Amino acid sequence: MDLISIRRKYNNIRNIIIISFILVVCAILALIVKEINKNKAEENVFLSYSELKKIVAQKEEEIQKQKEEQQKIEEENRKNNLPQLTEEGKNNVAKIYKSDTKRVFLTFDDGPSSTVTPKILDVLKAENIKATFFLLGSRVELNPEIVKREYEEGHYIASHGYSHVYSQIYSSPQSVLDEYNNCVRAIQNAIGVPDYNPHLFRFPGGFKGGKYDKIKSQAHDLLEQNNIAHVDWNALTSDSAGAKTTEQFIAELEKTVPKYNSVVVLMHDAGNKQATAEALPTIISYFRERGYEFKSFYDIIK
Ligand SMILES: [Zn+2]
Repeated sequence: MDLISIRRKYNNIRNIIIISFILVVCAILALIVKEINKNKAEENVFLSYSELKKIVAQKEEEIQKQKEEQQKIEEENRKNNLPQLTEEGKNNVAKIYKSDTKRVFLTFDDGPSSTVTPKILDVLKAENIKATFFLLGSRVELNPEIVKREYEEGHYIASHGYSHVYSQIYSSPQSVLDEYNNCVRAIQNAIGVPDYNPHLFRFPGGFKGGKYDKIKSQAHDLLEQNNIAHVDWNALTSDSAGAKTTEQFIAELEKTVPKYNSVVVLMHDAGNKQATAEALPTIISYFRERGYEFKSFYDIIK
């Protein structure tokens, strides 16, 4: 081999080494660039994710704020609508049968029942009338959703005791108060308002008369000490005393209604009082035709 061919061979080898070196460097550079781009991409994803998280957190905060605001308003409304028995209210109850203008309070005792009460509520809704319900605690526990409906549709919900068993209720004045409270507790649970208190009781069988007269009058004082008023009625359909048809109900009303400007009508919405639900539109017309305005105890207990 001459010197020239040795040099040529050497040059070839050197060129191969240089080209290889350049290729390796290029490959490494390419890898580095790829890695950098990958990290950058990941960084971008991470950034947009954190951005998204921030937006979601802001939205959640806004929703929470709106919710709290709404709850505040509802709480305020509820408190404003909670019955409060002030001196004015006590005075109003004491003068319940007196009024300068004609007014009528439709009142329903012994409910709620799943068969009759919803029908009565449907009629009242269609006629746009607010009534007053004197509930039995034992029946409130059986039909809490109906009580909730009564409350939400704006009717006045008051206590008629818990058991409706006279010998039990009138065993002592304290027992009357206990019956009132047990019914109110059941109402509170049914409507989901823990501090609801109607401050209004209707004595089962009425306040006056009967063999429990003395206990009733002692219980009246005890109720008064506990800021609870009571109300009877001055007109009735006799739907729990023999009357069965709409004509009979109206005939019963005719006995007393013409004597009063302010009428409190006793009716019942226990499960066997279908006739009352059926007669209600006619009873309402009866009062409308005579110029009576329909009121509930929300207009009285203040
Ligand atoms: Zn009753």
